[in-house]
Amino acid sequence: MRLFLTGLMASAAAAAFSATADAADYVFATPDEAYAILSADDEFTLRLQPMEIGLRLADNAQTSREALNALYRDSVRNFTDEERARLEALLAEDAALLDSLSPLLPDDVLFIATNGGLDGGFPHTRGNAIVFTPGWLAGGDAGFRQTFYHELWHVLSRHNRDRADEIFGLIGFEPCEVILPESLSERRLTNPDAPFNAHYAPLEMDQADGVVPVLFLPEGGYDPALEGGFGAHLGFALMAVDAVDGTCRAATDADGNPMLIAPGNLPQYLDLIGRNTGYIIHPEETLADNFVLWVNGAEGVPDPEVVERLGAWIEANR
Ligand SMILES: [Zn+2]
Repeated sequence: MRLFLTGLMASAAAAAFSATADAADYVFATPDEAYAILSADDEFTLRLQPMEIGLRLADNAQTSREALNALYRDSVRNFTDEERARLEALLAEDAALLDSLSPLLPDDVLFIATNGGLDGGFPHTRGNAIVFTPGWLAGGDAGFRQTFYHELWHVLSRHNRDRADEIFGLIGFEPCEVILPESLSERRLTNPDAPFNAHYAPLEMDQADGVVPVLFLPEGGYDPALEGGFGAHLGFALMAVDAVDGTCRAATDADGNPMLIAPGNLPQYLDLIGRNTGYIIHPEETLADNFVLWVNGAEGVPDPEVVERLGAWIEANR
């Protein structure tokens, strides 16, 4: 997802965009191809729970995958000629950079056009596809390119899931099987770009071994009275955890409740992951924003060493 908090197979005859034979192809998906990706059983849809489907459909009575798929079917469309031209211009302008990233990317990176009605209307990714929204496609050039690279990182990262420990380790996270407490588990909110919690941030803390950033819905799930739509339903906290033998369970307070900490109250979390972005809801998102900084040349950021570590990993693996 690309949340602006503080400051996301054409036939051979179609315009698959690739400069060299073994470079990743960037392909504009047809609505049928887009639907096939969105409705697939994958790491995102297989984790979806009823309450969060209800949020995505803005109706607590609609909690089935079938209902969600109907939304996907209604949301996909063809790119306009203008949108295609804009994306092709970006691909042409950045061909050297994109070619150099090809070894880390799938053979095909698909582009999906939507009318914005899915997953909160946020740019995001699924499988090897980037899901474009009307607002993004019509937005200014700087944001257009930054969001492209933010989302491209998610495709790259997903393509290298077997190296997630290494990748999240770039900002200090360590692998851990995270067990959510009962009070949060049915309210869990799954981010398509970071659908799992399998790492924690080890920190010096009095009553815990570290934290896991978690997203969750309000009690009761989707609330039609809550102004602000999907985004207003996103709860975020750093859940304090005890890490024992590779398993992270919520550390509890004196009343037995999980300790959910606001990031502002835990500066050591930002010491660990860096302060280059306010987008800290998951290491995957923090890395995506640091990837954009790497692409753009990270002039004057608070923690350039984070961008350098990420860049060194890319250089060593592409
Ligand atoms: Zn994202």
